[in-house]
Amino acid sequence: MTLLRKRFQSNFQEPISILDKGIPLKMYTGLNLSIENSNLDGLNLTEPEICQNYITSVLQTNNAEVAYGGYLENRSLYSDKVGFMGIGETQRTIHLGIDFWTKAGTTVLVPFTGIVHSFKNNNIRGDYGPTIILEHEIAGLRFHTLYGHLSIKSLQNLKTGQSFETEAVLGTIGSQEVNGNYAPHLHFQIIIDMNDWSGDYPGVCAKSDISHYSDNCPDPNLLLNL
Ligand SMILES: [Zn+2]
Repeated sequence: MTLLRKRFQSNFQEPISILDKGIPLKMYTGLNLSIENSNLDGLNLTEPEICQNYITSVLQTNNAEVAYGGYLENRSLYSDKVGFMGIGETQRTIHLGIDFWTKAGTTVLVPFTGIVHSFKNNNIRGDYGPTIILEHEIAGLRFHTLYGHLSIKSLQNLKTGQSFETEAVLGTIGSQEVNGNYAPHLHFQIIIDMNDWSGDYPGVCAKSDISHYSDNCPDPNLLLNL
């Protein structure tokens, strides 16, 4: 894992924006949606409107357009969703990607050259909705990037194996109606080994599985340097 971290750090050093270039990085602000954030006490984040109101307040306070964060955060956001339930350590609450919370329709850009590994509309409530997974090989390092909660039209005319150059438009952020019933955001995750997954991969894991998943899904900010 340390070796992998070094490889990422030696190949990616500049900040990379994966949203509309019209939003400068100085308009991004950090967001903490973990259960440790006392500002969230009493807020039912599983209600998209309540979650959006909190995010809007953070954006306004910081004069920002994008709120981002969430890698390995322990969240209450999924507690109402059937696919995440379990008892104690087996309940899935640990978030494995970075989320970018901003307006539906915002353009999503490819951070570096890759090909389409797979794509799918995971249209169960609480899931990703439209999802694209790219495969990359850079300096002998093979890995994947997952883009979740996209718009339906992001999947139209897409083909497995299709190549995308750096900064090409991949799609747009989906609305609450299509994105699994969340406030609009992009879920971005690095996945080293896809195993047998296609068009989908867990974006939230149980506490008991952190070791496995954090090894296979390193911090996306090792690439993005935000
Ligand atoms: Zn997410």
